[in-house]
Amino acid sequence: MEALNDPAIRTLLAQRLLAHYQHHGRDLPWRHTHDPYRIWLAEIMLQQTGVKSVAPYYQRFLNRFPTLADLAKAPLEAVLSLWQGLGYYRRARHLHAAAQQMMHDHQGTLPDQYDRLLRLPGIGPSTAGAILAIAFGQDHAILDGNVQRVLARLLALEMPPDSTSGKKRLWEVARLLTPTGQAGFYAQAIMDLGAAVCRPRQPDCPVCPWSFWCQANAFGRPEAYPVTKSRVAKPHKYQFNALIIRPDGTLLLLPNDHSELLSGLWHPPGSEFVLSPTPPDPEVVRQWVMQELDLNVALPVMLAPVHHIFTHFRLTVHPMLCLWQSGEMAATTPHRWIDPINDQTTPIATLHRKVLQIISNRQKAPS
Ligand code: SF4
Repeated sequence: MEALNDPAIRTLLAQRLLAHYQHHGRDLPWRHTHDPYRIWLAEIMLQQTGVKSVAPYYQRFLNRFPTLADLAKAPLEAVLSLWQGLGYYRRARHLHAAAQQMMHDHQGTLPDQYDRLLRLPGIGPSTAGAILAIAFGQDHAILDGNVQRVLARLLALEMPPDSTSGKKRLWEVARLLTPTGQAGFYAQAIMDLGAAVCRPRQPDCPVCPWSFWCQANAFGRPEAYPVTKSRVAKPHKYQFNALIIRPDGTLLLLPNDHSELLSGLWHPPGSEFVLSPTPPDPEVVRQWVMQELDLNVALPVMLAPVHHIFTHFRLTVHPMLCLWQSGEMAATTPHRWIDPINDQTTPIATLHRKVLQIISNRQKAPS
């Protein structure tokens, strides 16, 4: 887009956007502070999650961990437990690890230098830029998902934003457009524009402060941008979960040590993922429980399947209700028996909460 070579037009774009933000910017809890800890917390939560979902978690986190030191000294399990339902749990593990690293290496404060921020777990170039711009008033650009979409449309960029050349071009433009001395306001303004006006579907171009210059709008095809790499269908995997219930109603959970995806969280015992959609044979499940856990259970009953979509695959879980009959878990095998309906403290991923919900629904259902 040639016009961006003209500094006067770049200034005009920034001014229009900032004026729009002053009138229409959203009142969000993390916008009432310049505390780097709070800004960092919000930015991590906002990676991959919208503001509506983040707001209550943000408040709960601050109530429980009002300072970076409180977060660093908390057990990881308490952090994961509070994160439950927000998804992408790697963010919570990174948050905790970064807090500990900052206590150790930076006297319990967020570093105000770009390269030092980038060395902390969970902080990439855009998050580092946002923290430095918003909390420290430094001139840094951001390029989160919302901003990528806005800029790709402004330019009618014919490359996917996540391609090497697409990313390079978008960062160039993000830096060019960020006004000196106002990077913090500008970062929040463009994030807001992406979330509230330049939405993925049905962008509201008539009210957009950039509509006059926007190439995608000029072509009459804003939704055609950003262009995407041809979408590959996600593989569909299957698994069974053994919901082993003792006579007192407690349910067996194991810690997840294998999958980075859900590490630190607890889950019912379950089979490996397979590509075959054939539901499991109850007798095979019974034998599996005996071999894997040394527990004797009645012939399992298959409950309604649970479906979940991860970033790279879709998963269908067949929950198998297994009533315990005899046997004890080895003391050397980490495990816990929880109340599947009332337990609030064990960190459990959304997928397995859905599985446990089935037990709860079953117990509430009229007989
Ligand atoms: S004019 Fe439309 S497509 Fe272009 S930046 Fe504004 S909202 Fe997005």
